[in-house]
Amino acid sequence: MEICEILDEKGLTSMAMRSRLPASKDRLLFTPGPLTTSLSVKQAMMRDAGSWHFEFNALVLEIREKLLQIVGLSRERGYETILMQGTGTFGVESVIGSVVPAGGKILILSNGAYGERMLQMAGHFKLHAEAFRSPENETPHLGLLRERLQGDASITHVAAVHCETTTGMLNPMHEIGALVQEARKIYIVDAVSSFGSIPIDFERAGIHFLVSSANKCLEGVPGFSFVICRRASLLASEGCARSLSLDLLGQWRGFEKNGQFRYTPPTHAILAFEQALKEFEQEGGVEARGARYAANHQTLHREMSRMGFKTYLPPGVQSHIITSFLFPSDPKFQFAEFYRRLSDRGYIIYPGKISQADTFRVGCIGRLFESDMLDLTHAIADVIQDMGVSL
Ligand SMILES: *Cc1c(COP(=O)(O)O)cnc(C)c1O
Repeated sequence: MEICEILDEKGLTSMAMRSRLPASKDRLLFTPGPLTTSLSVKQAMMRDAGSWHFEFNALVLEIREKLLQIVGLSRERGYETILMQGTGTFGVESVIGSVVPAGGKILILSNGAYGERMLQMAGHFKLHAEAFRSPENETPHLGLLRERLQGDASITHVAAVHCETTTGMLNPMHEIGALVQEARKIYIVDAVSSFGSIPIDFERAGIHFLVSSANKCLEGVPGFSFVICRRASLLASEGCARSLSLDLLGQWRGFEKNGQFRYTPPTHAILAFEQALKEFEQEGGVEARGARYAANHQTLHREMSRMGFKTYLPPGVQSHIITSFLFPSDPKFQFAEFYRRLSDRGYIIYPGKISQADTFRVGCIGRLFESDMLDLTHAIADVIQDMGVSL
């Protein structure tokens, strides 16, 4: 009820009413981010914080340290967290553009849109880059990767995506890391969609730079990403940055100098994130959040299979983050219509992004519980029936 009053004051109730939904309830987002967030996370943003103020700077420092603790690391042990304005893409781009020296070469593993996006970034920065591609429904072939790494001494950096959100594929990030370590390369991991709900052993995987974002499994709102890295690797990137605003080392030096972001920080997103981290800790950290999402995924998978939907990925590589479902073959199934009808009932799903198959996606992350997954699947059953689609 409280949110109604807030919305009233801000003159937003008419918007909520136009959408034919109760003003107190937004549609649930079954997407890969932005996600459904808790009311308390949204409420934490109803303040104006001064970016130069010591209280805000103390909060920024606390957030940087807490992010390290999530993966069992600390500054004392030689690790750093750098917050970067912008979503996960900006964080990934800050690493790709800031750590590869002029004479270096980056090998980018790709089995989906996010691997391809890193290749695009390397192209924009005119890096010497090569792709190591695998089909979108397969994990990288480790034997071939080992050969490639052993056979090319000019490769200095390797980048991989942990959970490829295009499909929901969980890539073997630790096993890839073992090969990267063996070949003595710098390892960059896009863990944007997995950090906070899938355990990551930073040291065992031999990671040098890891990127994630406030608005994925940590259930904050969009506005900034973060990079966790070894301080020695960060310092070694001196002089490599190809962008001013996305200069990773420059951003870190800014925090070290006066505790501040170099340019205007996303103050509201930081306040929301402080609350999101509290709720993450209260829930029980990575293990508990991972367990909730896994239960969401199991419920979704069970109910969708019962109706006759088929997943795009084989079960062994499917993560609990997001699931891609194949379109039913019945021509009566039209995605736009399916999407609109679910949206009318208060559920937002996600279109597919796969190049070789027609799919739609359902995310299991965010402030969602098994009961929400059941509500969604019941709505899907009704919509399928209303549309006359046979499965
Ligand atoms: C969400 C996501 C990103 C960042 O995408 P944005 O559109 O910037 O939020 C990067 N990599 C992966 C794997 C993601 O899931």
